[in-house]
Amino acid sequence: MNNINKFFINGKWVEPNSNETLSVINPATEEVICDISLGNQSDLDTAVAAARDAFINYSKSSKEDRLNILERIISSYKKRMDDLSNAVTIEMGAPKTLSEKAQVPSGLGHFMQAKKILENFSFEKVVNSSIVQKEPVGVCGLITPWNWPLNQIACKVAPALAAGCTMILKPSEEAPLSAIIFAEIIEDAKLPDGIFNLINGNGSELGVSMSKHLGIDMMSFTGSTRAGVSVAKNSADTVKRVTQELGGKSANIILDDVDFAKAVSKGIFHCMNNTGQSCNAPTRMLIPADKMDEAINISKETVLKLKVGNPQDENISMGPVVNKNQFLKVKEYISRGIEEGATLVTDREETIKDNEKGYFISPTIFANVTKDMTISKEEIFGPVLSIIGYHSEEEAIDIANDSIYGLSGYISSNDTTKAKQFASKLRTGMVHINYAPVDQSLPFGGYKMSGNGREWGEHGIEDFLETKAIIGINNNT
Ligand code: NAD
Repeated sequence: MNNINKFFINGKWVEPNSNETLSVINPATEEVICDISLGNQSDLDTAVAAARDAFINYSKSSKEDRLNILERIISSYKKRMDDLSNAVTIEMGAPKTLSEKAQVPSGLGHFMQAKKILENFSFEKVVNSSIVQKEPVGVCGLITPWNWPLNQIACKVAPALAAGCTMILKPSEEAPLSAIIFAEIIEDAKLPDGIFNLINGNGSELGVSMSKHLGIDMMSFTGSTRAGVSVAKNSADTVKRVTQELGGKSANIILDDVDFAKAVSKGIFHCMNNTGQSCNAPTRMLIPADKMDEAINISKETVLKLKVGNPQDENISMGPVVNKNQFLKVKEYISRGIEEGATLVTDREETIKDNEKGYFISPTIFANVTKDMTISKEEIFGPVLSIIGYHSEEEAIDIANDSIYGLSGYISSNDTTKAKQFASKLRTGMVHINYAPVDQSLPFGGYKMSGNGREWGEHGIEDFLETKAIIGINNNT
């Protein structure tokens, strides 16, 4: 990769102004993959100036031009799928098969979805004798996390382009390699200069500078609630629009009318997918209290099917967690669960000892968890599941909603009427019935401290638009 130490600004790969660098570590081997440059205020000012210049023409571009741009990106993206998969696996440890089958295709999917929606999207509507017009919000600062790196980048870049915005992307410093390849895809797609700019950097410096920058009109942020709050506070003085896709602690309510063994084991697989590092992971499993022993036995059998190991090995289901900090943090939560009296159901330390290097953590399941325990309240963001018993359906809803988060909810039931009633009682942005998979045409986002705004599909494009009332223009037309 030739562009590892460069930034993509105004259609070219440029040398950074800053001399500061950061080592990117492979979490499976703990080896340094490469050093990336960390951008500073001066790099940001150059990128913002380019994006502001580009906005003048791009904001007025036709729908056909934007569709053409999206199509060119789709075609360039398809050529780099293998490179992207390799990069995701080495930078954040996703199993090779997960990178190939989900991580990378999910990014492509958002471009295809944005193109499909844009084809029939209306930027203007007549109201009484006036017009309500939708216009691009302006220059956007996009900040993304490492856990689904291409999905997060694409679900911001694709709708921003469809809306007519220009942008500066700061990907996670933990997963910059796939983002650099993504910028090469944009280069290959020959977008007009300055529409898309990429700068690598730290959240605490570059992320803060972006949030405060007078030349940026909107911050679209995905990451932890802690950092999302910081972005909102730092954006306040310039009255930017801020959209936030933040943390979660999603409840998975299993009702007593389902095949219990199937529902519990599916819930475990969902929770452990991507080594438990998904914002919408069902990390609190709520089961009828009298089925706790049964759930423990099912859990013991199910985890045996989850093989932890080298993410390059096609037969494994879980790789390492992303970095040393995350490794220590997750281990600390596991200790806390034991101290606070939860029942540790699974303890497969042997899989950790097998790997001399790497931030590997076995799938860990706690039973008899109560709603006041730390592992039931805080987002762990690792392969740790808490099983909580409920005594009535009302109590199940109360436990599910007793969270500062409100991203996703999960309900397993054979009674669709009941499942729908439950869904409407959950204070979450999404509810999955019987583990229905995500759908990129539907809105994605959370209630409460899980965020503001919605990504994906039509709602994703709406977030990047301003609304203008042109009053009286339609009087005689
Ligand atoms: P993080 O908040 O540490 O970092 C995310 C991004 O924010 C990175 O690019 C980082 O450099 C930047 N950042 C950090 N501090 C910042 C600051 N003060 N100002 C501006 N930018 C800053 O999160 P992470 O560890 O990369 O990702 C995990 C978190 O992301 C989890 O909480 C997870 O739930 C959340 N997440 C949410 C969604 C969603 O759609 N709701 C999706 C994926 C991940």
